[in-house]
Amino acid sequence: MTITIRDLTKTYKGGVTALEGVNVEIPAGMFGLLGPNGAGKSTMIKILATLLEPTSGEVSIDGLDVSKDRRKIRSRLGYLPQEFGVYPKMKAREFLDFVARLNGMPKNGRDKRVDEMLEKVGLADAARRKVKALSGGMLRRLGIAQALISDPKLLIVDEPTVGLDPEERIRFRGLLQDIGKEIVIILSTHIVGDISSTCENLVILDKGKVLYRGSPPELAAKAEGKTWETVAEEKDLPEIKRHFSVISTAPRGDRLHLRLVGEGSANGLELKPVNPNLEDAYINFMGGLEEEKND
Ligand code: ADP
Repeated sequence: MTITIRDLTKTYKGGVTALEGVNVEIPAGMFGLLGPNGAGKSTMIKILATLLEPTSGEVSIDGLDVSKDRRKIRSRLGYLPQEFGVYPKMKAREFLDFVARLNGMPKNGRDKRVDEMLEKVGLADAARRKVKALSGGMLRRLGIAQALISDPKLLIVDEPTVGLDPEERIRFRGLLQDIGKEIVIILSTHIVGDISSTCENLVILDKGKVLYRGSPPELAAKAEGKTWETVAEEKDLPEIKRHFSVISTAPRGDRLHLRLVGEGSANGLELKPVNPNLEDAYINFMGGLEEEKND
């Protein structure tokens, strides 16, 4: 399964161009779509899920055209939208059975399939719990189960870890990683940690354009020789911020332990070079963009 996006542009009715001349080749495996809010990620995901028509350009999934072969594409894909809303009074198992029925699955194999899915996402014990009584993480996992029920070849997930606590986020990433061994996953997120721990390839999208394509280690390597640790006084922070992007600050006695990225001059600071990670590189790449720190 390969996905090819050529010269994709999407302009909304009000005149906002959410995607402009985007070219991306998505190979097998787990693929990350990273970018700040408003970058155009959801727009791209909705086009891939055949829910939105491109203004121009071509998108093909497994050789099928998103504008012409919607039904065929839909039968091959599972989708977990950002706002995953379900019937709150249904029980988890009941909901999955309902989705399976909507997918035209006969009663015969349905029970087995629903139980398999509950097991796969770790919700077997919560099968009889009402949807409204599930935690955020459990609800997301139920979302994955419904997306996988008809055995898709491609799974598309949009900002799936927003609002999850750290433990659930790690568990959720692990689940995606397992699924990614079997089918193609496209994961859209503004949280760097979602990508670094799971994806083999990624693109960075910003203001509707692709800024970077490659693997997480290749991106991280771009911040080599530009990532530092240092100890400084609180009063020096504004000056340091003028020269570097501050990745993290941690109190150390009456001073601050800082992680910095950038090519700024040290101004008397003792900078200790450190190995960059994906977050360092992403922030450096985005020109010191203030990212939401969710990890
Ligand atoms: P992301 O998912 O990266 O946050 P979106 O694809 O949601 O980005 O949005 C990209 C741009 O398109 C934003 O400027 C957003 O305001 C605009 N946009 C998204 N949906 C619509 C819509 N239905 N109508 C008009 N503009 C939209």
